Parts: sequence; structure tokens; C-alpha cells
Amino acid sequence: MSFQVIGLPVSRGVAIGRAVLVASSRVDVAHYFIDESRVEAEIARLRQARDAVAGELSLLKRDLPAEAPAELSALLDVHLMLLHDDALTGATKQWIVERHYNAEWALSAQLEVLARQFDEMEDEYLRERKADLEQVVERVLHALAHGPEAGFAAAPAVQARDFAGEDPLVLVAADIAPADMLHFKGGVFTGFVTDVGGRTSHTAIVARSMDIPAVVGAREASRIIRQDDWVIIDGDNGLVIVNPSPIVLEEYRFRQRQGELERERLSRLRHTPAVTLDGERIELLANIELPADAPAALASGAVGVGLFRSEFLFMNRDGELPGEDEQFEAYRAAVEAMNGLPVTIRTVDIGADKPLERMSVNELRHEHALNPALGLRAIRWSLSEPGMFRQQLRAILRASAYGKVRLLIPMVAHLSEVKLTLDALARAKQQLQDAGRPYVDVEIGAMIEVPAAALMLPVLLRYFDFVSIGTNDLIQYTLAIDRADEAVAHLYDPWHPAVLTLIAGTIRQAREAGKHVSVCGEMAGDPAFTELLLGMGLRSFSMHPAQISAIKQRVLRADARRCAARTLALLSADEPREEGARRLAS
Ligand code: PEP
Ligand code: MG
Repeated sequence: MSFQVIGLPVSRGVAIGRAVLVASSRVDVAHYFIDESRVEAEIARLRQARDAVAGELSLLKRDLPAEAPAELSALLDVHLMLLHDDALTGATKQWIVERHYNAEWALSAQLEVLARQFDEMEDEYLRERKADLEQVVERVLHALAHGPEAGFAAAPAVQARDFAGEDPLVLVAADIAPADMLHFKGGVFTGFVTDVGGRTSHTAIVARSMDIPAVVGAREASRIIRQDDWVIIDGDNGLVIVNPSPIVLEEYRFRQRQGELERERLSRLRHTPAVTLDGERIELLANIELPADAPAALASGAVGVGLFRSEFLFMNRDGELPGEDEQFEAYRAAVEAMNGLPVTIRTVDIGADKPLERMSVNELRHEHALNPALGLRAIRWSLSEPGMFRQQLRAILRASAYGKVRLLIPMVAHLSEVKLTLDALARAKQQLQDAGRPYVDVEIGAMIEVPAAALMLPVLLRYFDFVSIGTNDLIQYTLAIDRADEAVAHLYDPWHPAVLTLIAGTIRQAREAGKHVSVCGEMAGDPAFTELLLGMGLRSFSMHPAQISAIKQRVLRADARRCAARTLALLSADEPREEGARRLAS
């Protein structure tokens, strides 16, 4: 049966593929295709893991103390029975044989299928057996991760599109943490749908950085879409069409091809300098999450990195943070990959919707914070971990010996934070000098993403060399709406007069003070705002590499002076959005 689910469009384009349902707790399971020649070995790996778990369970049963309740022994029998049930093992094998999924993926895919069947059972006792099944699968996944061939999971993934004859796949999940999105970078999925999330939630941002269509906040999607359903993700309109009719499918295939042609056309602008019709040179920079993104930034024609979100180096590490040398290597790799172009490294912005996974004390703090977006995040977190902060500063400074590095501080709001940051930087430099390590005196900038910072800009400008406006958070904090919460996504309004006033004021005052100002929030990569930002006097935009060509096209067609005149009128309008649509586009 064909049906539609509506969500928020967060990453443009059309993806068509079969649904792979992934439970939120299992998105960190490795997903990769195995080669035909490895199918038998993969089945053997699965069998070994299953046998190991069967052995464990039998031992547990044998060693049960005599006084243990009889239910415990019966429970172990149920687990053993589930483990050998063909509905689990036989069907898992099928996923490996027919789809070439790796064993972990095959097992979790089958768990999803069975879990739904359990959910639909009338009988409560049987329904409750789902938890047993999950425990059994968890044990097998654990055995796979620790088995003799566990290392194979680290083998490079075969890309979906490299796999002739395979259907493309789209991922459907209740939620995906930003850290888990990293597992999918360069991976097998050609689109994403999640039940929760807002336009600028970090999951959405990572989907955009991967340049694959995505819809978030689709509420019931992961409950009503079934494993293997054909799904169209319309990332332009926030629509998910499940089991489409042949006519609809054809229409979307056509749109998909048109999109590809348009991208190809735009990519020819790669080497064209971004200059407006009236001769204003505009700097288009890239946002990256990992050093591995730098080549794409360079290839997109970016003239540098305007935002390296360093926190992604800190995620998924089971509580063990990267040390100074490891960080230094990562920053150096990014700097070297950019061939002498500037790289703006932001100190870690952990917290809110980017928690460090499995991080003891801080994880607890985040989990118990009522309002994580207002809690210990970004520079607040760094200042609460002074040793870690100085370590990061030293690593960034050391990378400055290999190219042009700029340092960016997130979520500045208090002068005391500025002073502590500058003290930490001075100490980090002193430590490097004492150790005889080379570094360059890097420029230091503040992210303007809290209204307080925008309102006290003249003070901040005395301490910083440049500023970068984080519109994602600036909008969140100005309008008091959680950027990751789909329930208030309709109130996330970049056109709100209060937001525009803060952005315009920041750009104007920074320019008057002779300081470099850039926008690195999602507004910079959205063509709907290019003329507006140019009109406010912005000359530096930082965005996902995939957005650069489209923004460049807008820049090439814009007249900065005319934009300025129109923007002025717009800033005093009651409803700038309507005015904007009318005036700026004409
Ligand atoms: C922003 O807030 O606009 C920004 C660029 O930072 P992040 O999205 O990582 O919070
Ligand atoms: Mg931010």
C-alpha cells in the first residue's frame, strides 16, 4: 500500500531506495556490504558467534545455584530456543546471502523485522518476549564484536553504488545521534528519514554535509515504514513516499535526474571567483566535521575552511578523549589538505544535541540537565575541563606551523569566559615554548551565537581578531526554541525581525571596527538568504562544501549595492519574510 509521511526538509534532493530500519540503539552497528567471495566466511563468523553465545547460556544454566528460582532456568531455555530459531538465524543468513550485508547488519535487520512482529502480537506474554529476543541479539552482536574475525568490521566499506545489481538503500530510524551519523559518512545509505529532529539539529547538519537527501521530524516514520519498503525521500519538500505507484516513481526518477544535471551544471562554477555584478569579491568557505572532509572542501572551490567542528573528533570514543598528539595529527591533516588555504578550527562544542557518548561524569551531567542547550556546552564545557582545553589549544597551535590556522571559540557570552580563554591560550603557548615546539600566533575569533554576545559586540571586538555568526544557535537562543525539537520547528524562523536585527548589527559593527566577520550557520548555505546577507554587508560565507556552487551562482547574479538598499527597507518591516520574498528576488 502506498502512503506518505510528512516531515521537515533538511537536505535537498531526491533519494529512492529500499528502507533499512535501524533501531536508535543499534545505529552504531557496522553497516557495510561484503564481497560475494566473503559470503561463506561471513556466515561462518555468524555461526561461531551464535555457538559461543549458546555455550555461554548453557554454562549459565548448568551453573545455576540450586536455590535459583525455576523461572531463571526457564528463561535461559527461552533464550537458547530463540537463538536457534530459524526465524532469527535462518533469516539472518538470508540477508547475508541475498543482500551481502555484514553479519552485524544482517542480524540487526532481522531483529527489526521480528521486533515488529512481536509488537503486533495480541498475547501479552508473547509480546514481552521481544525483550528476550533483543537480549539474545545483543549477546550475539557482542560475540561478533569480540570474535576472532572482529577486525574485519573495520575493513573499508563497499559503497552501495559500487555494488552492481544492489538496490540503493535509505535509512529509517527513530533518531540518530550526530555521533552515530559519522558511521554513515561515505557509507551505504543514499538518504535518511528520522522521526525526530529540527532543521538545524546536528543530525540534519551532518546529513547536509554528506550531501544526501534527508527528512527529519517525520514523527511516526520508523513505526509505519517496514523493512525493505520502497521509499522516496523528497528532501526539498520534506515528504516521504512509501511504496510509490509506478507513475509517482517515474516522476521522482525524472526529478532525481534533473537534480543531478543541475548539480553538474553548478559544479562548473567551481573555479570561478565569487564576485558580485558590482565587483564585490565574496569569500566562500567550507564547514567540515573531520579532516577527511577537507578534500571535498577543496574540490568544491572553497577558499578555506570557515568552520571545522572539532567536537566530531571527540565523539564515539567510549569515554576516551583524543590526546594532544592525536588531535594535532587531525588538525595538521586538515591544514595540509587545504594546501595553504586558511582553516578555522573551532574548539570543542560538546553538549546540547552533541553529547559525548558514554562519557562518565559529563554524560551524566548532560543527561540530568533539564535544558542541555542552556547547560554546560561549548566554551563552558571547555573551561570546566581546563586540562583538556589547554591540550586542545596546544594541538591547534602546533598545527599552525603547517599552514594558516585560525582559532574559533563557540558560544561566548560572558567577558569572564573571554578572559579565561585568553589566559588558557597564553598558558598553552608558554607550555609549547617551554617544550621547544613551534607554533604561529594564530588569530582568535568568537562565535556570535548567543544574543548576549551580539548585544555586547563592541566589548568582544576589543578581545577578538574576528567574529563568526552561528545563526543556528543565534536563532535558537533568540527565539527560545530548541533547534532539535520538531515540535517547535515551525517557530524556527531566520526571518524573525529580532534575529535579523542581531545579525545585521553584528555585521555592521564588526565591519566598522575593521574586524573580519563571517556567517557559518546554515543561513550562509541557504540561497534564500544570500542577497539578504550581502545586503547586510556580509562578504564571507561558510557552508557545507556541497552548497558552495549554488551560493556562488547567487553571488554572481547579485548586485551588492542594490541588495543593501533593499535590505535596509526590509529590516524595518513588520514581516520581513514577506517583504524579503518580494523585494530581494525582484
Ligand atoms: C551555529 O550555531 O550556527 C553553528 C555554526 O554552530 P553549530 O551548528 O555547530 O552549533
Ligand atoms: Mg552553534
